[in-house]
Amino acid sequence: MIDERKAAVDAFVEEARLVTVSEAADRLGVAGLKGISKSEEAGPCPVCGGTDRFAINRGRGAWNCRGADGGRDGISLAAHLLALDVSRREDFLQACAEVLGRAVPGDAPETEEEREAREGRLAERRAAAEAARVQDEAKQNAYRKREIAKARGKWEKAVAIAPHPELLSLSKGEGRGAIAGGQSSAGGFSPALRQAQDEGKPSSSAAAAVLAYLTRRLGGFAPPVLPFARAIAFEPYWLQPQAGKRLFVHFGAARPGPEAAWREVCADGRMEAIFEAPAMVLPFVDPSGAVVGCHLTFLDPHGPKGRPSVWLRAVTVSGKSAGEESVEKLPTKKMRGTKKGGLIPLTGFVARDGLILPDPARPRLVIGEGIENVLAVAVSEDCPADTIYAAAGDLGNLAGRAAGTFPHPTLKNKGGKAPLRVAGPEPKPDEPPDAACQAPASVTEILLVADGDSEIVATAAAMMRAESRLSVCPHPEPVEGRGQAGRTVATAWPPQGADFCDVLLQASKAA
Ligand SMILES: [Zn+2]
Repeated sequence: MIDERKAAVDAFVEEARLVTVSEAADRLGVAGLKGISKSEEAGPCPVCGGTDRFAINRGRGAWNCRGADGGRDGISLAAHLLALDVSRREDFLQACAEVLGRAVPGDAPETEEEREAREGRLAERRAAAEAARVQDEAKQNAYRKREIAKARGKWEKAVAIAPHPELLSLSKGEGRGAIAGGQSSAGGFSPALRQAQDEGKPSSSAAAAVLAYLTRRLGGFAPPVLPFARAIAFEPYWLQPQAGKRLFVHFGAARPGPEAAWREVCADGRMEAIFEAPAMVLPFVDPSGAVVGCHLTFLDPHGPKGRPSVWLRAVTVSGKSAGEESVEKLPTKKMRGTKKGGLIPLTGFVARDGLILPDPARPRLVIGEGIENVLAVAVSEDCPADTIYAAAGDLGNLAGRAAGTFPHPTLKNKGGKAPLRVAGPEPKPDEPPDAACQAPASVTEILLVADGDSEIVATAAAMMRAESRLSVCPHPEPVEGRGQAGRTVATAWPPQGADFCDVLLQASKAA
C-alpha cells in the first residue's frame, strides 16, 4: 500500500517536472506581461510587483524575477508565485500539484489551516514588496525633483543675452536691409558684438559668445531676440565612466589618426569634467509653463560649426571583447532635468508668475529638433508676429514613439545581414501627454522643420509620426475669430544633406 502510494507520487512528481514554464505560466494565470521580443514577455511580478522585474521566455522555457533566482521549469515558477519553499517536501509537492492542476495522489487535500497559512505568507511577501516599491518610488521622485531643481537653477543663474539695439530693431521687422547690417566682413561678427566681447567681463563676454555663435550659424544674419536664451561663461563638460572600459579623449577638428595624442579620463572610475567652455542654455518648459529642464550647447569659436570637437576612445579591458575599441565624437549638446513632453521656447512665449507660456494670440507654431535649424527658418521668414518658434531638443521628443518598425530599404543591422529596423511612421497609440512634446492648444497651424543632414528614411518616418501626432489637438480651445477649424500640419524639408542653417549661409554668400 505504502509502496503503491510512493510510486504514484513519484510518477506525479515526474510528470510535474515536465511541465514547461510556458504551460505553468498559463495554468497559474500570469497576466499583465508585455512582449519585449519574439519569445520574451516582461512586466510586474505577480508577487514582488515592480514594473519590469518579471519575465518569462517561452522560447527558452525560462522565467526570471529580480526578486528571486529564476528557473527553467514550471515547478520553480509555481514556488515563486505561491511562496512555496521547495526544500520542504510538502511545499515541493504542493508546487507540483499547482503546475499539474490536480492534488497529490493519495493525499488529503490541503486543509483550511494549511491554505490560510500559505496565503498569509503570500500576503506578507506581497506587502513587503509593495512597501519596498513605494519607498523606491519616493526615492526616485526625490531624485527627479532634485535634478529638475538643479537644471532650473543652472538656467536661472546664467546671464541673459542682452539684446543689442541693433538686434532689437531687427526683431521689429525692419527687413532684409537691417539684417544685412548685422553682418560684418571680419570673422562674421558685428562690431557691436566684438566690442561686447572685448569688455572682458566673463558674463558679458559669454553672452557675446552665444550671440556670435548664433550669428555665425545663421550665415551672418542676426538671430531674432531670444528672451529665454542665456549664457554660462565656464560650463564643465562631465563625462561618465563606462564599466569595463578605459576612456581617452582627443581634442581636434579632424577624426584622430594613428599618431593622435590621447589623454586618459575617468581613470579612477568617477565622473570627470574633461573641459570647460562657454555654453548657451535654454529652458525646457512643460505644458503648464514650468521650467523642468535645460538644454546646453557647448561653444568653441575655433571649432567646427562654432562648437568644441572632442573625440572619445573607449577600450574594452576584459571579457570576450577585450582589446576592442571604438572612437566617436562627443555630443556638444546636453540636456539636464527632464523634457517631460516640453518645449524649448525661442520666440513667441511670455513669462508670467514664474511660468513661461506660449503667447495665446499666436496661432502658428514652427517647431523642429534643433534650436539653430528653427532659428534659420525664423530669420528667413522674418519672424512674423503670429508665430511661436520652439525646438524639441531631439527627434524623439519631436516625433514620439512609434507603433511599430519597418525594414530599412538599404541599410543593414549590426550583424550586416538583416535589414536595419526603423521606427515607423505611425505614432504609438495612447501615449501619455508627457511622452513627447505637445503643441499649445491655441495653435491651429504647425510647420515642422526637418533636418536634411540626418539619415533620410528614419527622419522621414519620424516627421510623419510628428505630423500625425501633432495634428490631433487634445483640448481644442476656440481661438477668437478662428473657430475650431482643427489643425493643419506641414513639414518643411531643406535640400538633402543640408539643414536650414546651410540654406541661410548660401543665401548670405550669394547676397
Ligand atoms: Zn517575483
